[in-house]
Amino acid sequence: MNDILTLERLRCNISRIQDQIEEARSKVNRSDEVTLVAVTKTVCVNTIKLLLELGIRNIGENRVQSAQDKYRVLSTAKLTWHMIGHLQTNKTKLVLPIFDMIHSVDSIKLAKKISECSINTTKILLQVNISKEDSKHGFYEKQLQDKILEISTLDNIKICGLMTMAPFTDDMDTCRKYFRKTRILGEKLRDKGYIKQEKLELSMGMSRDFNVAIEEGATLVRVGSAIFK
Ligand SMILES: *Cc1c(COP(=O)(O)O)cnc(C)c1O
Repeated sequence: MNDILTLERLRCNISRIQDQIEEARSKVNRSDEVTLVAVTKTVCVNTIKLLLELGIRNIGENRVQSAQDKYRVLSTAKLTWHMIGHLQTNKTKLVLPIFDMIHSVDSIKLAKKISECSINTTKILLQVNISKEDSKHGFYEKQLQDKILEISTLDNIKICGLMTMAPFTDDMDTCRKYFRKTRILGEKLRDKGYIKQEKLELSMGMSRDFNVAIEEGATLVRVGSAIFK
């Protein structure tokens, strides 16, 4: 979808999503912040400019080329850029100047490359394939314990937390189970000292399941289609 949505339609969708975020936070008495990352991979620069007018400050992109094209136009806008898609190691150098956080670090090789290419500290999340699906990128829970030990020794990167995707299903109990597993894993890794910041970031939840993810501790929700419908 590449048409410019009307400002009013976007305003309405965002306001509804923000209400749902608030509802989920209050349901579980959360006092910490939940950041709405608007996933703009399907929309054009002009639509992103409308989002800016509506107060959106965090955007998510999953393709290097498309992010570069958008960044050329939007580099001076007050936006925080989140890389949420699988990143090929050889593209690392290209994305670091654009993105404030890389959600999709799924190998030691990529973490090392980010470490090598970073001039300032790059914030990363480790992607976990918590539901162990072949089609998904990410570390398996079992591997992560060892791998994070190695990643945490690299210079110029800061492990801020974990990212995950629930299976593609309408069964919210299933999604909840995997979000909960991811939070517990994140807390365990933080308590062991691998996540060197007070706030454990958990990037989980998309249009269909972000409310459940927030109830289970998501601090960053990546929402696309619910904004642009
Ligand atoms: C596209 C995408 C999203 C947003 O999905 P919607 O269902 O459109 O909200 C979130 N996370 C990742 C990694 C994506 O690729």
